[in-house]
Amino acid sequence: MLDICEVRKMREISLAEGAGGAEMGELIRSLRYGNRGKWGNLYDDSATLKLGGGVRLAFTTDSYTVTPIFFPGGDIGKIAACGTINDLAVMGAKPLGMSVALVLEEGLPKADLERIIKSLDSVSRSTGVPVVTGDTKVMEKGKIDGMIVNTSGVGLIRKDGTLDRRPKAGDKVLVSGGLGEHAVAILAKRFGYRCGVRSDAKPLIGEVDAVRGLVRLAKDITRGGLAAASNELCGRHGIGMLFDEADIPVRPSVRKVCEMLGADPLELACEGRLICVVPREKAATALARLKMFNPRSSVIGEITRGRGVAVDTFLGRRTIPPPRGRIVPRIC
Ligand code: MG
Repeated sequence: MLDICEVRKMREISLAEGAGGAEMGELIRSLRYGNRGKWGNLYDDSATLKLGGGVRLAFTTDSYTVTPIFFPGGDIGKIAACGTINDLAVMGAKPLGMSVALVLEEGLPKADLERIIKSLDSVSRSTGVPVVTGDTKVMEKGKIDGMIVNTSGVGLIRKDGTLDRRPKAGDKVLVSGGLGEHAVAILAKRFGYRCGVRSDAKPLIGEVDAVRGLVRLAKDITRGGLAAASNELCGRHGIGMLFDEADIPVRPSVRKVCEMLGADPLELACEGRLICVVPREKAATALARLKMFNPRSSVIGEITRGRGVAVDTFLGRRTIPPPRGRIVPRIC
């Protein structure tokens, strides 16, 4: 049985600790599990286990508490399938199968549940990643908000396909499309804005396969946005990143909603975008391949010898710290 030894500082959990920023990282690090066996990549998108012959098993899990459960461009079922498939794909794994566990609120319309399962199933079919096991629980009305979905997934990483290699100074940093669209689609629905932005939720298997062999490492950009993903990679590998603000792709409509709400598009969640690090001489090829999936794909900067993330803006250079605070709760 897993033993949680220490939860530091606060006596009660806050929403900030689920928002993908620094507080979430601190909470996760404070949960000390005694037995990790021979597993590696414990704080990566998937944990890995050597199977022999240069092959590793990848294993990941994620829970989804988004509100509202239906939003422009997707629903909780679509992001639950995409999220787990993407956490496997960005490690270089070929996803083999996934589980779906549902916690449903008494009174949830069955038509809503059917729509969500259909949506999840459509991602499963289009990617060839079957749902092979699952669980269903129901809680009393008012005890949860509609539904919670958990998905877990397993995949295999072959030696020549791994995407968790160490970056080098001078490597280029790419993103696979416009940022913040998932979060803004949900915020717009919550606040009743008609901005036309749809969630970017999508499986990233195609993108990963297109740049495999060119890319040293990849990571899907989810809660906490580019700010969280880039700082996490810098911390893990002891590197720095320097971006050029003019090259960071953010749709004008996303920018406008962010201005209205005082949000930073670099901190907003995506559900179908990745950041990847590519040797300088392979960057143009990788970019051309990513543009086949999304024309907003861009080379946004490079790896530096420093520590942490910075961006050059028209006003000068500024640091991008790991996001803190509530950012946007209940976004995925
Ligand atoms: Mg991830």
